[in-house]
Amino acid sequence: MPDLISELRHLVGAEHVLDSEQVQQRASHFWDSSPLQARALVKPANTEEVSAVIKACHKVGQPVVTHGGITGLADGEKSTRNDLVLSLERMRHIESLDVAGRTVTVQAGCVLQHVQEAAQEKGLLYGLDLGARGSCTIGGNIATNAGGLSVLRYGMTREQVLGMEVVLADGTILSSMNAMMKNNAGYDLKQLFVGSEGTLGVVTRAVLRLRPDTPSVNTALLAFESFTQVSDTLSQMSSKLNAQLNAFEIIWNPFYRLSTNESIKGSTRAPLSDNYAVYAIAESQGSNSESDTSVFMQALEDAMQDGQIVDAVIAQSEKERADIWTIRENVDLVLRHQPAFIYDISLPINSMESYLDNIEQQLKALWPDVLIYAYGHLADSNLHITVAPTPEKYVHNPEGANVETVVYSDQENEWYGMCNKIMFEPLSAIGGSVSAEHGIGLLKKPYLHYSRTEQEIATMRLIKKALDPKSILNPGKIV
Ligand SMILES: Cc1cc2nc3c(=O)[nH]c(=O)nc-3n(C[C@H](O)[C@H](O)[C@H](O)COP(=O)(O)OP(=O)(O)OC[C@H]3O[C@@H](n4cnc5c(N)ncnc54)[C@H](O)[C@@H]3O)c2cc1C
Repeated sequence: MPDLISELRHLVGAEHVLDSEQVQQRASHFWDSSPLQARALVKPANTEEVSAVIKACHKVGQPVVTHGGITGLADGEKSTRNDLVLSLERMRHIESLDVAGRTVTVQAGCVLQHVQEAAQEKGLLYGLDLGARGSCTIGGNIATNAGGLSVLRYGMTREQVLGMEVVLADGTILSSMNAMMKNNAGYDLKQLFVGSEGTLGVVTRAVLRLRPDTPSVNTALLAFESFTQVSDTLSQMSSKLNAQLNAFEIIWNPFYRLSTNESIKGSTRAPLSDNYAVYAIAESQGSNSESDTSVFMQALEDAMQDGQIVDAVIAQSEKERADIWTIRENVDLVLRHQPAFIYDISLPINSMESYLDNIEQQLKALWPDVLIYAYGHLADSNLHITVAPTPEKYVHNPEGANVETVVYSDQENEWYGMCNKIMFEPLSAIGGSVSAEHGIGLLKKPYLHYSRTEQEIATMRLIKKALDPKSILNPGKIV
């Protein structure tokens, strides 16, 4: 290893290689301030340096874990003392933006929000948005095939990527920097790397698709007495607003109460009473503010007259819009509880209510005081659920966000296993998935078989073996 570190210092510059002691001054995750563990951390500046680093690691069989913004929620970014962390933090450059062709070319370490802002400056829009926008990177978004808040209209990350450059496990640079909507010249190789969580290659650059900006925005927070009312309203608004419906997010009462509990640091004001069973945020976006607003208001009025929506507040300013979205995006508040088991599942909308009733019954039988926080991207069939078995137990959470290290006791680890079984087992029968948008990483690896067949998993192994026979890229993750 000392030889490898000297070689890496030579390849990228000594100041861009941290040794095992220096890496411990860094946090291991966006939400966890415990010291990062790694043999070394390397910060290459460009694709050629990534290639040289990977080639050197390949030669000696050194495992490599790639880091973007370390906001991933499946432990795909987790490293051990034996791993080398490859951080793309020096590869944040926006290389070019083509207004006529509606594309932007970036280095993979570029932060999502910077791409969004660069597009907006030119009257365009990047169709991916998620709560971690200020920290997560384009490479991380591609590696996890991130979803987020605008999937209903623009699709997941896969739909935003036109071209990509990847460094393979032996250091080969695979450049597929296509910038066109149509290119059926053989296999679309870039798709292999979307959602591969750093196990098949290191994404170094990408060409992303941009869309026309939608400056007219209408946002409403809606309240309901039942889940059926919410799902009926979604169907109705989808047909009335069609492609203009940008987001339809659901929040069940316990999470609404937590997020608007003003005695908790980081919470926000409740624009509607906290006594309703379910809430939703509906947002439409378009380019003609007068007609867009009138169509949006009409859709809401119709749903209110039909008795579906029982209360509503409509944002009258950008600040009011941001306040409404904060209720949904205050997701780190669930981390106050210790332990807090976090899930990201997908399942058919018409199975959601019975699924939630079923898991609640089983969880309550184990932990009578259990708190279940559910919210998510209803229109994408994607729910986020946090289970807090002992809700009265809090972790120290001084900033309302990052938590100090939480090490689960043996008993809590056992509880996690029991909880996983309750949450994941019913998904097979209803055609759901153990991971809607966060990926498999280490956390959900034992449960992959609930959502993928034996043959699918065998084919994943075959691809991994073909592209990374020495298994140096994020070994042990996914399969
Ligand atoms: C507050 C919050 C809200 C979130 N909301 C959403 C949401 O709505 N939707 C959603 O999908 N996710 C969400 N996430 C999860 C997370 O932000 C996404 O998974 C994101 O895409 C990860 O990007 P990253 O740069 O932080 O990647 P990391 O966390 O650094 O890495 C994630 C995985 O990708 C691999 N990787 C990273 N960069 C590269 C690269 N260049 N090449 C190859 N592999 C790479 C890593 O090895 C790891 O396996 C949220 C997270 C937080 C903390």
